[in-house]
Amino acid sequence: MAPAQNTVNSKHVAVIGAGASGLIAARELHREGNTVVIFEREKQVGGLWIYSPKTESDPLGLDPTRPIVHSSVYESLRTNIPRECMGFTDYPFVPRVGDVSRDSRRYPSHREVLAYLQDFAREFKLVEMVRFETEVVRVEPVNGKWKVRSKNSGGFSDDEIFDAVVVCSGHYTEPNVSLISGIKSWPGKQIHSHNYRVPGPFKNEVVVVIGNFASGTDISRDIVKVAKEVHIASRAREPDTYEKLSNNLWIHSEIEKACEDGSIVFKNGKVVYVDTIVYCTGYKYKFPFLETNGYMSIDDNRVDPLYKHIFPPALAPGLSFIGLPGMGLQFVMFEIQSKWVAAVLSGRVTLPSPEKMMEDVLASYETLEALGFPKRYTHKLGKIQGNYLDWIAEECGCPPVERWRAQQVNRGYEGLLTNPENYRDEWKYHDLTEEAYEDFARKKL
Ligand code: FAD
Repeated sequence: MAPAQNTVNSKHVAVIGAGASGLIAARELHREGNTVVIFEREKQVGGLWIYSPKTESDPLGLDPTRPIVHSSVYESLRTNIPRECMGFTDYPFVPRVGDVSRDSRRYPSHREVLAYLQDFAREFKLVEMVRFETEVVRVEPVNGKWKVRSKNSGGFSDDEIFDAVVVCSGHYTEPNVSLISGIKSWPGKQIHSHNYRVPGPFKNEVVVVIGNFASGTDISRDIVKVAKEVHIASRAREPDTYEKLSNNLWIHSEIEKACEDGSIVFKNGKVVYVDTIVYCTGYKYKFPFLETNGYMSIDDNRVDPLYKHIFPPALAPGLSFIGLPGMGLQFVMFEIQSKWVAAVLSGRVTLPSPEKMMEDVLASYETLEALGFPKRYTHKLGKIQGNYLDWIAEECGCPPVERWRAQQVNRGYEGLLTNPENYRDEWKYHDLTEEAYEDFARKKL
């Protein structure tokens, strides 16, 4: 892969993480003529998509001293959006025709996503940039540069100076658990979806699954195959919600309280005696290696301050974050964000002054508040993701993201909500699939 011809100023850049965001960031940084070292604490690339049957010692993930297992992928996981819209824009995620070891389904298993990312890393010679089994333990600004302290599997610790650090460490590892009233004296088992792998341990149990979006929907349907009963608690539903979804699966409104006698009381008034609660309640941002002398903070899942969810104004462009906004298009968002970071670092594109960036950050907080959204929604882009990506694309002079991608994501989520059992295998929007493949053909991909 040849570096870009239009390079203005080559930088030495540390990328933290070799998941989807770190891989694409490294490729874009290299394309712009920067030199890149990727630090990765695992033994292979792929991040979250490296399935491990291992779980953490504290199933709720509350013990700060617990050894960390990075991935939150469960054995039965298939993608929750169609494969075409997941792939990077010049490396489509299409079935490998004729390779029987691969999963050709439109919503393939986690193994196929890992294989795609590993193909991508090989194709663009990114593996050579990775220092495997090397954990970044400290990142701090020093005289206009960045000191990165890392520790390898042999316990050897090293300090290196970089012009810039791009944080691609993921944010689906630190469980978000809001404890239920009375839970301290409730006698049952509790586990966060981060530590859920297979349904076997829930055989013949009565289980409450809290949360009814991507993970909650999948995990409740996985467990219900072996459990006696599964009860989904959904905050998004009306307080009187109580529906039987199948023989042994119910959906309720949220939980009112947990009681010492082992029962769970729902807001709808129903009382169920429960063996295990599974929290599918999302994740928290955490960057334990980052030392910014108090400039940056995380409060109620707002990483503050970040211009366009990427650059902390006073520390930009030396420090940047890829992939913070969750949901919607992910890999393509990482790609567009990375192109911008790479173009800024090489000097081809300039950022506004720190003051102007800070004004923008504060204005975005005001807008969020005026719309009635809580702080924890700061990095949820929802319907504005398309505008966000278009804006960045224009800023760094790359084409806007194809419209069919967002349309596929929206149809995918619609399916998840209306047909959770079968949406992956009953795709109706063939026009969008055709459009995707026509697009790949036009671009000769
Ligand atoms: P990760 O994949 O988590 O990679 C981060 C990497 O950084 C890891 O390899 C980790 O080992 C490394 N790392 C972390 N800290 C350090 C450190 N200090 N030093 C060195 N290395 C470090 N998205 C989709 O597009 N489609 C889906 O179907 C989909 N399904 C999902 C299902 C689940 C259960 C979850 C939790 C998420 C899902 N997502 C999905 C979102 C998914 O997280 C992103 O698509 C994407 O894979 C995240 O990539 P990442 O590189 O940002 O983070």
